[in-house]
Amino acid sequence: MNVAKRPARRRRKVPAAPFDLRAFQARIATTYGSKDAKRGIAGTFMYFSEEIGELAEALREPDRHDLPGEFADCLAWLVSLAHLAKVDLAAAVDRKYPGLCPKCLEIICVCVSKP
Ligand SMILES: [Zn+2]
Repeated sequence: MNVAKRPARRRRKVPAAPFDLRAFQARIATTYGSKDAKRGIAGTFMYFSEEIGELAEALREPDRHDLPGEFADCLAWLVSLAHLAKVDLAAAVDRKYPGLCPKCLEIICVCVSKP
């Protein structure tokens, strides 16, 4: 029986550390950046959109899907897009969501929500 020999994998365990969005964006860019660049923003956005759809399915039927994994996929594609668009997503999030509501300026928003 001829069994194809798989090439040795160069997988390394990433040590657990507090999540750092900037480091995650850099990590995803290292791993997928060249493929993303070849695909371009429009093509990469299509994959991001596809993942949003998969997240919607997982939210509707969490027992049939990997709900945490779908959230992770959406974030990975989002940071890929940010990298392609030359946006530092961590800085954008810090600027836009500084820890209080930009409208009512409260830490716990008291704005009247839309139904
Ligand atoms: Zn508010």
